[in-house]
Amino acid sequence: MARYTGPVCRICRRYGMKLFLKGQRCFGPKCAVERRRYPPGGRGQGRRKTSEFGLQLAEKQKLRSIYGVLEKQFRRHFEEAGRRPGMTGPTLLSILERRLDNVVYRLGFASSRKQARQVVRHGHIALNQRKTDIPSALVREGDVVSVIPKSRDNEYFSIVRAELTEKTVPRWLALDTEQLTSRVVALPAREDIDTSVNEQLVVEYYSR
Ligand code: SF4
Repeated sequence: MARYTGPVCRICRRYGMKLFLKGQRCFGPKCAVERRRYPPGGRGQGRRKTSEFGLQLAEKQKLRSIYGVLEKQFRRHFEEAGRRPGMTGPTLLSILERRLDNVVYRLGFASSRKQARQVVRHGHIALNQRKTDIPSALVREGDVVSVIPKSRDNEYFSIVRAELTEKTVPRWLALDTEQLTSRVVALPAREDIDTSVNEQLVVEYYSR
């Protein structure tokens, strides 16, 4: 399955903001945005004027990077958002948020979406009691996302369980920290999604 394998801190530096792509490192002093507050590359420290198209492209790329989705699939999510009733921008965010890898990340079963994707791909997650290894699967209201019984007491999930009490999950998910099981109590609304990306610019990018 295709995925981006290049340096991720460069992406944050390119856009001058933390996109939280690396788990714990993002919260420490080693964060590249904290240490080098200028874009990467030889001419990184110069000032550049950004066109309207450039702004739209940047927002689209930021959102794509945050959720770890390649262009083809991101476009598919966008087209799906366009077919649904309501405003396309918030609907796109809701679809991205409902991806299984994102749900695993939001539940605190992984420290980054990249790690969450690996947890799913390695078959540790079940969707409605059926093992699912598809990170792009979309959860629906009422779905149950859980760690499979065989993995619940392994070393990785024992550490996860111990740390879960300190974490908070979004209000659209209800988590049983002991059983490592969660129910989707509602679909995520725009106010539930803590991203600073301007989704309207993403819609404008694809509507050119
Ligand atoms: Fe971005 Fe995290 Fe790297 Fe900081 S440590 S630059 S937030 S990916």
